[in-house]
Amino acid sequence: MSDASRVLLLLGGNLGDPPRMLDAAQRMITERVGAVLGRSRDHWTEPWGFADERLFLNRALLVETVFDPPALLRSLLAIEQELGRERNMAQRYAARTIDIDILLIGDRVINSDRLQVPHPRMHERAFALSPAADMVPLWVHPILHRTVLDLLNDLRERR
Ligand code: AMP
Repeated sequence: MSDASRVLLLLGGNLGDPPRMLDAAQRMITERVGAVLGRSRDHWTEPWGFADERLFLNRALLVETVFDPPALLRSLLAIEQELGRERNMAQRYAARTIDIDILLIGDRVINSDRLQVPHPRMHERAFALSPAADMVPLWVHPILHRTVLDLLNDLRERR
């Protein structure tokens, strides 16, 4: 346990009933991880990194937690598992009922084997930055020193 930190999470899923899955994940996060201070709109997005016919639903959550980062990750992985995600080791990007990524933890930078924060690919992904910008457009990425909204605009310019 440590002092409370503000954490930006990204929920995503494209199997079954995604709105219901994301609601269930949000409830479990509230019960087990900490108060949800805010949530983005839900964004339907194109699958990324593999071909799949079904759109993904993404939602960002701003959560306050007293868990340290390893405990936070363990708790989120347990929620993913309980919600029935089948991990496919052979295929990195695959259809899934629920995926929970840690995008940001305050202004911390973490580089362990099991956890990288900020999420190493968040700045390349509109499906992460758009929901994040609904809620925390001015949060500064602690490595790139750009706000979430600037990173989203940068992506657009590169398209
Ligand atoms: P994924 O297939 O994207 O759900 O990958 C989950 C694995 O990525 C977890 O077992 C974590 O150990 C690892 N991981 C590394 N950094 C992060 C992060 N920022 N958020 C979530 N998972 C992470």
